[in-house]
Amino acid sequence: MTTQNLRVEHGTETSDVSSAPLLDVGRGNRPLKDEIMEAVSDIIDSGWFIGGPHVKLLEETVAEVSQTEFAIGCASGSDALLLALMAIGIEPGDEVICPSFTFFATASAIHRLGGTPVFIDIEPDTFNLDVSKIESLITSRTKAIIPVHLFGQCADMDPINSIAEAHGLKVVEDCAQAIGATYAGRSAGSLGSVGCFSFYPTKNLGGFGDGGMLTTNDPEIADKLRLLANHGMRPRYYHSEVGINSRLDAIQAAALNAKMKHIGDYSSKRAVNAARYEQLMVDAGLADQLLIPQANTDCGHVWNQFTIRIPGGNRDQVRQQLAEMNVGSEVYYPVPLHQQECFASLKENNVDLVETDRAAEEVLSLPIFPELTAAEQAYAVNCLAKILDVVEMPLKRAG
Ligand SMILES: *Cc1c(COP(=O)(O)O)cnc(C)c1O
Repeated sequence: MTTQNLRVEHGTETSDVSSAPLLDVGRGNRPLKDEIMEAVSDIIDSGWFIGGPHVKLLEETVAEVSQTEFAIGCASGSDALLLALMAIGIEPGDEVICPSFTFFATASAIHRLGGTPVFIDIEPDTFNLDVSKIESLITSRTKAIIPVHLFGQCADMDPINSIAEAHGLKVVEDCAQAIGATYAGRSAGSLGSVGCFSFYPTKNLGGFGDGGMLTTNDPEIADKLRLLANHGMRPRYYHSEVGINSRLDAIQAAALNAKMKHIGDYSSKRAVNAARYEQLMVDAGLADQLLIPQANTDCGHVWNQFTIRIPGGNRDQVRQQLAEMNVGSEVYYPVPLHQQECFASLKENNVDLVETDRAAEEVLSLPIFPELTAAEQAYAVNCLAKILDVVEMPLKRAG
C-alpha cells in the first residue's frame, strides 16, 4: 500500500488532502487562546489558584448542561469516580457491577475502596452495558451499578434505574465521554445518583491538563462530595471523614469556561461528522464490510468517538495500513478489563463476556473531532475503501 495522494471530491471543490489526524486539539484551542491567556493572567494577578470564581462558574455551567442542581469540581474523571463511590459508601467486600469494555478508571475506583468489580457484558451495537444481564449478576453484596456512557452515547438508563431501585442499588454514571449527551431528553449526569465527568484533553470538553466534575441532584451527596474532595476537612484542620485531595485548579477552570461556551457547537459538529462518515461509507460500499455506529433514537449522542467494527480478524492490519496513509485511528479498548493482569484474581467471576471480547478484537475509532474537515473525512473513508479493496464508488456527497 503506498501513501499516495487521493484526489477527493467534496462538494464542487477538489482537494489534495492526504491525511486525517485522529485528534488535533490545537484547532479547537487556537481561536480561544487570547481569551484564555487573559483569564490566566487575571488568575496570576489574583493569586487564587485552587477553587475560586472560575471554578464556581464552571460548576454552574456543568450543572446547567447536565440538568442537575449541584456540580462539584475535582482533579480528574478518575477521582470523580472514586469520590462518587466513597460518597455512596462503597466498602471492602462490596460488589459493583460495571462493564469490562471501558477505560480502566471505571473499575479501579471500585478496587481502590476494597470493592469487587463485577463485569457485565455489552451490546454489540452500542458498546454499552447489556441491561438484560444485570439481574443475573446481582448478589447480596451488590451495592451499585456503574453504567458507562461509552463513546458519547448514554447507556439504557430507564431499565438500569428500575432494576437498581428494585434491588436497593445506587447508580453512578461514568459520563467521562458524554458531556451534553441526552437520554429521553434528560442529560447525562442527571440520570443516576452521581455523574462523573472528565476534562482530560481528548474528551469533548478537554482542558489543558487533568480535571473532573461530579454532578448530583441530592443535596446530601453533594455536600459529602465537597467534603471528601477536600480531605474531609470542615472547618479548616478539623476532619470528620478521611477524604482525599482532589480539587479543580482555577487555570483549568478558566480554559474550560472558554470552551464551555462552545460545547453545543462542538457536539453538533461531531454529530455532523458522524452523519457524514455514514454517508461516505455507504456511498463507498463499505456498509457490508463494516459496522457503522448509529445513535439510538432516544439518545442525543455526542460522538466522543466514532467507532466502527471490522469483523474478520483484520482490524489491526487495517489500522496499520491507515497509519501508513496518514489516517489516525485508535483501538478503544484492546484489552478489556477482565483480561487485565491486575484483575487476574477476578477471573473466575467473569466467564461470559463474549461480546466484550469480540468488540476488543473488532473496534476501530476514526477521527471525529469537531474541526475535522469534510475533505479529511472523505480521504479517510477513501483510504478505508482502498484497504478493504472494494470497488471505489464516486464520493458524491462529501461536502
Ligand atoms: C477518560 C475516562 C475516565 C477517566 O478520566 P480521567 O480524567 O482521565 O481520570 C473514566 N472513564 C472513562 C470511560 C473515560 O473515558
